This record gives sequence, structure tokens and C-alpha cells, in this order.
Amino acid sequence: MIVRKSKLVACAAVILLVAITATTATAQITYHVTFPNAVHHETEIILMVSDLPPGIAEFRMSRSSPGRYAIHEFAKNVYNVRAVDGGGRELRITRPDPYQWNVSGHSGTVQVSYTLFADRAGGTYSQVDVSHAHLNIPATFMWVRGMDQSEISVMFHPPMNSNWKVATQLVPTGEFTFTAPDLQYFMDSPTELSDFSLREWDVPSGDGGTSTIRLAVHHRGTESEVDEYADMIRRVVEQEIALFGAPAPYDHGTYTFIADYLPWASGDGMEHRNSTILSSSGSLANNALGLLGTVSHEFFHSWNVERIRPRSLEPFDFERANMSGELWFAEGFTSYYHPLFIKRAGISSLDDYARQLGGRLNTVINSPGRAFFSPVEMSMQAPFVDAATAVDPHNRSNTFISYYTWGSVIGLNLDLTLRTRFDLTLDGYMRLVWENFGVPETPYTVGDLERALAEFTDDESFARDFFDRYIRGSEVPDYAELLAHAGLLLRPFNPGGSFLGIVNLRYDEDGATINSGTRIGSPLYEAGLDRRDRIISIGGRSLLSDDDWQAIKADHDPGDMVEIEFEQRGQREAASLIFVDDPRLELVTYEAAGMEVTGEMREFRESWLESQVR
Ligand SMILES: [Zn+2]
Repeated sequence: MIVRKSKLVACAAVILLVAITATTATAQITYHVTFPNAVHHETEIILMVSDLPPGIAEFRMSRSSPGRYAIHEFAKNVYNVRAVDGGGRELRITRPDPYQWNVSGHSGTVQVSYTLFADRAGGTYSQVDVSHAHLNIPATFMWVRGMDQSEISVMFHPPMNSNWKVATQLVPTGEFTFTAPDLQYFMDSPTELSDFSLREWDVPSGDGGTSTIRLAVHHRGTESEVDEYADMIRRVVEQEIALFGAPAPYDHGTYTFIADYLPWASGDGMEHRNSTILSSSGSLANNALGLLGTVSHEFFHSWNVERIRPRSLEPFDFERANMSGELWFAEGFTSYYHPLFIKRAGISSLDDYARQLGGRLNTVINSPGRAFFSPVEMSMQAPFVDAATAVDPHNRSNTFISYYTWGSVIGLNLDLTLRTRFDLTLDGYMRLVWENFGVPETPYTVGDLERALAEFTDDESFARDFFDRYIRGSEVPDYAELLAHAGLLLRPFNPGGSFLGIVNLRYDEDGATINSGTRIGSPLYEAGLDRRDRIISIGGRSLLSDDDWQAIKADHDPGDMVEIEFEQRGQREAASLIFVDDPRLELVTYEAAGMEVTGEMREFRESWLESQVR
């Protein structure tokens, strides 16, 4: 009794506290966006806030953007910042740090105005010009600290005679007016204003109704190119929905692909809750199939990342880098699936699919990076590699493997292991992860994924062993054995060929300078050569062109030892150089290798690589 009573008292206190916080945290926030100087990539933004609590109001530009893990200083492109009160009286602004504008002396209403310069269309930044306004929200909009729960209204004012329409996951309240329920949703809602081509179609949703898929393409091609592209997307979307049984429950029943395929856009893809940004300087005419890979990838994120969400990314922090040890799953498994869906949709061939897998396997199996970090630790490197920029060199060719690539071959390992050892599939495991974490939107940890694998296989020791070896550890399985079940052959790319290392060489009139780093274990590395060293001769032969480089390798067998002469930091040096076997691998079909494909292999391929739409 006493315990219950004290619990009741505690509850009342909590309710009171929540009520107070709620009233102070629901300011009225409205943005007006105009484009008086679009030709010079400027937009003018007015942010009106009322019902502010007394004291200093803190206005900030974000330092990070949902789905991007490196810091990007969006404040650098903001200027002409002014603040006035409800009566138009100028308010004092101070700068506590590079990202923040503190406004004091207000009486509850503040209007901040600023100019934003924006000229990069992609998943992280914004671009304003005569053709469009491509707005990534954290790159564009200042926000008020502590007002995360307030509803946000936005009014876009397109240039006169622009024919601009709006594509966004923001909630429409008019042609150019939108709302977001809170700051997290607003920041997650990139918006494209342009004269784009639009296609939309319905798919059955999980609740017996329908969901709408929209494709807004801002491009320079023809309408029939958009029709063909939309048809390919429809087929890929169908395969992805078949895996989970239904589309993810979009917040307003609609999912929007927002594409900018323009010579002045930058290559990127960025997932959001009910939309994605797809951007490229390429066109549908010359690279529709290449662009489709990003479509397939980002759409899978509407389940895996947007709703099956790592705990480390919840909630997303706009003030600092967000680190996650789960990107081998969030990005890696998504990368395993994105070409698989295109194969299952019948758009790519088995040879293409094998070639792509072979490239990834070669990278992971041969990379020295596995000696430095596990897939979990590699994921934590994202803030330094995910579109991060720096001026100093790094040693990533030795220490890093992309969590996309590594994670994708872990997905392959798990899929083939489940199929050969348990008569289960990775599709089934993904459905269980969806049920356990996606449907209830309960963020997961690496431990949760391991427990789900134990539940799925009913084999706790298998799950522990798999995670110890391949997720927390850096082992690679016997991929050749696993792939043989499908009649796929993992073999040397250049059998019997000799090898010195994969380097980028710049030739001049009497030598070749190494532009890249050299790789641990490669003959050049072992001989003591590194970035910026200039090779004069190998085995007495000068190195003046790529033809020389190829001829030197062709004239020597693995195991041959010769002298290499080079310049290093201004000193002339000589060392012994030992040719080794070319370690590079490729994956081909048994058909291509002239080997027999059994009925069992054909069945294995069928259930793994063919359409899953019933
Ligand atoms: Zn991704």
C-alpha cells in the first residue's frame, strides 16, 4: 500500500513536470523562404518564433544531417543575420560559438532573417539556382534550441514564372505551405522545388489499404525515359515489398523518391523516413541502370535504418557527429540487398551480379584493414569517411574497409550459411528483425541482432560464434565453398601472374611517382616505398609509362627478386623487390568457367536470385 501510494505521488509530480516542460517548449515556429537572388545561389530565409520563454533565445545551424555521419559546418554559408522583435525593433545578437546566434532582449517573439549561399545538390547540402531549389533541411534552416517538440510551418515563395512545384515528405497544407510535427521530422525532410516530372502508383499496404509511391525527377531528358525508369523502379520496389510482406508504414501513406539528375548535381543518395534524395550528374539516357542501384539501396532503408533503427542514432544529434557501431548492418546489409533486388527483378544478369559480388569479395578478402578494425569498429569510422573532408593524408588504404562493402559480404556469408546449414534465408532473418525492432520502432543494439539470430536459427552457439568471428572479429569465411552451392566460382583473377602492389603512378620523363599509399604486404611496401616516392628503375629497366609497368610484371614470375632504384624524401635509394602471386580474385558462373551446373545448384540459384513476388 505504502509503496503504491508513494508511486502515485511520484507519478503526479512527473505529470506536473511534463506539463510545465510542454508549455515552455511549444513555441510557434514559421519559416518563409524566398529566392530573390537564385542566379547567385542565394536564398533569403525568415524564421518567426513566438511564445518563446524569457531570456536568451539560441538560434543554431546544424553540424550534421540525418543519414550522414561526418560533421558538415552548415553555418559557414550563412550571412546577413538580423533579429527583430514583434514590433520590428532590432534585437542584440551575440555569438557564443561558430554555429550559434544568441538573441536577447525579446519579449516572446523574435524574427530572425538571413541569407544562405547554397550550390551543391546532393544528400547533405542545398543548391539554389534558376533551375531549382534543392534544400537539405539541416543545411538550410536555423532552428531554436530547446524547441524540438514545437510544430514547424514552412512557406516557400518560388520565383515568379518559375513553374516550380514541391516534392517533399513534409505535410502539405497548401501548394507551397507545409508543416512538420517536430524538429526531428523537419530535419529529415529534404525538399525539392523545380519543374520536375512526376509519376505515382499505389501498392497494397500492410493494413488492407494502399500506400502511394511517388517519383519526382528533375532532369533534362524525355518523358519516355522517365516512364522506363519508373517501370524499373516499380519492379525493384515490388521485390523489396515481397521480402517484408508489405511496404513500411509511411507516416502519411506516401513515399517519395526525389531525384536530381542534372549536370550541376553531385552523385549521392540519402535515405529519409518517407522519402529519399537521389542525385547525379549523369542522366537517365546514359546511366539509368547505374542510378537504379541507389534507388534500390535507399528504398530498402525505409525498413532497415529508418524503422529498424540502431539505438546509437536515436535521437539524431544536430550538434555533433553521430557514431554507430551498427553500420555494417544498417548500410552493409542494405548494400548486400540492393543489387540482389535488381537481379531478382530480372533487370541484371547472373554474370553482372557475380561480377559485382566478386569485386566486393576481392576488396574485403585482400584488404589489410581487417587487421586493424572489426566491422563494428569500422562502422565507428564513419564520421571520418562519410563524405568527410580534410586536407591531411590518411592511411585508409591500409586501415579501412568500407562498412558498406564489408557489411555486404557479411550479409552474403550469413545468407549462404543460413541456406546451406539451416535451410533458412537472410530474407527470413530480416523479417524477424523487422517484427522485433522495425514494427514497434524499438531501436536495436549489436547484442539484439545476435539474440535475433539465435532466436531465428534456434541455435544460440551458432549466433554467438557468427558474431564473435565476423562482427566483433575480423575473420572471413570460406566464400569459395559457400558460393559453390550456387555454381559460382571464386578464383584468381590473374592466375600465375606476378604482382607488385596496386598503386597510382604518375609518369614523367625519367621515372614514376607513387601518388597513392602503398599497401601493407605488397612487394613495394615491403621494399620500403611509400607515397610520393619516385621509382627510377626496376631490375635495371626504366619505368616511364604504363606499358613499362605492365611489361616489367609480365617479364617476371612470382618469387623473382630484382633491385628497385628510387628517390625518397630527396635521397637516392636501392632495395630488393620480390614479385609475388597476384592475389586478386574474381567470381564467375560455373558456365563461364566451363564447369557443370547441377540441378541442385540451379534450385539454389532459383530460391536465392530469382523473383520472390508471388
Ligand atoms: Zn545507405
